[in-house]
Amino acid sequence: MVTRLRIRRLPALRDNLIPLLEHPRQRQAAVVDPADAGPVITALEHGEMELAAVLHTHHHWDHVGGTAELLRRWPQAMVVGHHEDQHRLPPLSHPVTDGDRFTLLGRAVEVLAMPGHTVGHIAYVLPACVLNGQRQPPELLCGDTLFSCGCGRLFEGTPAQMLGSLRRLAALPPDTRIWCAHEYTAKNVAFALRQDPHNPALQAFARQVEQLRQARLPTIPSRLEVELQVNPFLRCHTPALQAATGKTDPVDVLAELRQRRNQI
Ligand code: ZN
Ligand code: FE
Repeated sequence: MVTRLRIRRLPALRDNLIPLLEHPRQRQAAVVDPADAGPVITALEHGEMELAAVLHTHHHWDHVGGTAELLRRWPQAMVVGHHEDQHRLPPLSHPVTDGDRFTLLGRAVEVLAMPGHTVGHIAYVLPACVLNGQRQPPELLCGDTLFSCGCGRLFEGTPAQMLGSLRRLAALPPDTRIWCAHEYTAKNVAFALRQDPHNPALQAFARQVEQLRQARLPTIPSRLEVELQVNPFLRCHTPALQAATGKTDPVDVLAELRQRRNQI
């Protein structure tokens, strides 16, 4: 049976957001990239929830740091991650690869390989479903691949790999909600405005982000239809970003943008 999940993002460390997916009726939850166990344990205890699963997008410490402690507390939880990264992830009960599907808290989940930030990076998509006649939008859990108005650093992959990964995400339904792993949006917007200053959608988005941040509210989740208009890394094929970078091939545009973003 299709169920309505509640998704929250728990602030952790300096700027991590840990997505917590809850099935209120079953009192079960799943967590993605637990940077730190503390906020997850507090949230689950408060809601009297059991931890059913820990999903990992990649092996960086700020994405796996809390897993061991969570598993000591909930040893039956399934542990998911890319099978090729098993040597550098916490022990996986469910190694997965591109195209795999599994069920989580009553919802389907699809695995997408997202090489770029790391070579073994994966994303999880909960496809859209209909509940009580109402469309539930797809949910994308994308770790450090796509950020709101930005993308992850290229630690291991090439610009061409990152472009390919971002293109797969750009092809998801426009109402997809994007749950990325960091609150970097304000800094990303400041950078994007310097690259793409005449983009009216970006200017409006910048005002919105500023209001949210002034109210100390998170900017996540974002929506894909918005990102397609404002995120320079999803717009490498546009004349505006080609002109800004002086490159024409979208791979070179992305490489140049990422290079510039690394400087700040
Ligand atoms: Zn990372
Ligand atoms: Fe990270």
